[in-house]
Amino acid sequence: MSRGAADRGDPPGSEGGPDGAPGGGQTPLADLLLRRVATTGPLTVAEFMAEALLHPAHGYYTTRDPLGTTGDFTTAPEITQMFGELVGLALAQAWLDQGRPAPFALAELGPGRGTLMADLLRATDAVPGFRDASSVTLVEASPPLRAAQAERVAGARWVDRAEALPEGRPLFLVANEFLDALPIRQFVRDGAGWRERMVAAESGRIAFALGPPARLDALETRLDDTAEGEMVELCPPLPAIVGEIARRIAAHGGCALLVDYGGWRSRGDTLQAVRAHAPAGPLDAPGAADLTAHVDFEAVARAARAAGAEAWGPEPQGEWLMRLGLGPRTEALARALPAGPRRDSHLDAARRLTEPARMGTVFKALALTAPGAPPPAGFSGRAPASGPDDPTTRPSPGRPPA
Ligand code: SAH
Repeated sequence: MSRGAADRGDPPGSEGGPDGAPGGGQTPLADLLLRRVATTGPLTVAEFMAEALLHPAHGYYTTRDPLGTTGDFTTAPEITQMFGELVGLALAQAWLDQGRPAPFALAELGPGRGTLMADLLRATDAVPGFRDASSVTLVEASPPLRAAQAERVAGARWVDRAEALPEGRPLFLVANEFLDALPIRQFVRDGAGWRERMVAAESGRIAFALGPPARLDALETRLDDTAEGEMVELCPPLPAIVGEIARRIAAHGGCALLVDYGGWRSRGDTLQAVRAHAPAGPLDAPGAADLTAHVDFEAVARAARAAGAEAWGPEPQGEWLMRLGLGPRTEALARALPAGPRRDSHLDAARRLTEPARMGTVFKALALTAPGAPPPAGFSGRAPASGPDDPTTRPSPGRPPA
């Protein structure tokens, strides 16, 4: 199971409404959080998510490698080597289009097991000058995953945060399923204000509760397009992280390819937990289950532009990968495999990444460049100005026929 809702066959957030059913209490972190709630009061969902994922002793990512068949979920680069190859070649194409700047920083946010970067480096070996001009920086908070990355990516350096990415040279960056792990806050519309969904205690277990109604500057524009009782989400760390990348690219050139699942403009409860390849309640096992939320690509594009960069897309992953050449690459690799289970699973991997009912539509790619740079490979146009319409549902003249 991947983390995209479409691939798990159930609607996101189906595990509990805003008023919340009783949740956990059965992990060491749940006990710690219960004590914290008792002394300092309810936590925002973002505070809960940050602890659940990155608590130094009990956090989900700090304590394990969650990927693959023995882990909790899988991701596009773990499904097929073709994902990292095509993403790498798209990045190398942007480098060629921008006049082969050297030296440049090659970076990844949240590289997981390092599989995407390893596939990217292998594929771009065929692009003269690319590897020699690059130095690899991996942004990773998890010690076990840093160790896994070190086994697959030679010569990389690691930093904790996007703020520590190299400055003063072009930045070519990729991130797959990183932004969906950033903590979100959730708000329920209440008249002309909002009630924040909090994590509190109920009968000795952590449970959702709603805070008091309040006006909120950040959500003032959402009063126009939401109904009473509707939920919207904000991702507080996202603008700064996207801004760090966009600022570097606007100043020195480069390209960021951000791939994740989500939509254009947050709407509804998208917080979801996955454990052992099955959906779980978001509060059931803090620290022992993966927690994610849909990425709001409108917020990504807005943050990028505020920092001076151009935003492209978002493009549905399936269409984007097909434009990058997934079809011929799938066929070429299939020809090298004898008929049988390995060939079947290779062919199914390509379908899994592209079919609309699987990962092809809910996953999207958004690119950042400096203003005036050519469009990155596979992108049919600039991201629209902020607005409620989902650009990925609009036909665009540059697209090949289906
Ligand atoms: N990109 C990989 C892994 C996705 S899982 C893949 O596609 O397979 C999310 C990754 O982001 C993990 O490597 C996790 O440890 C990392 N991560 C999550 N939150 C982070 C944060 N705040 N800072 C740095 N890394 C983070």
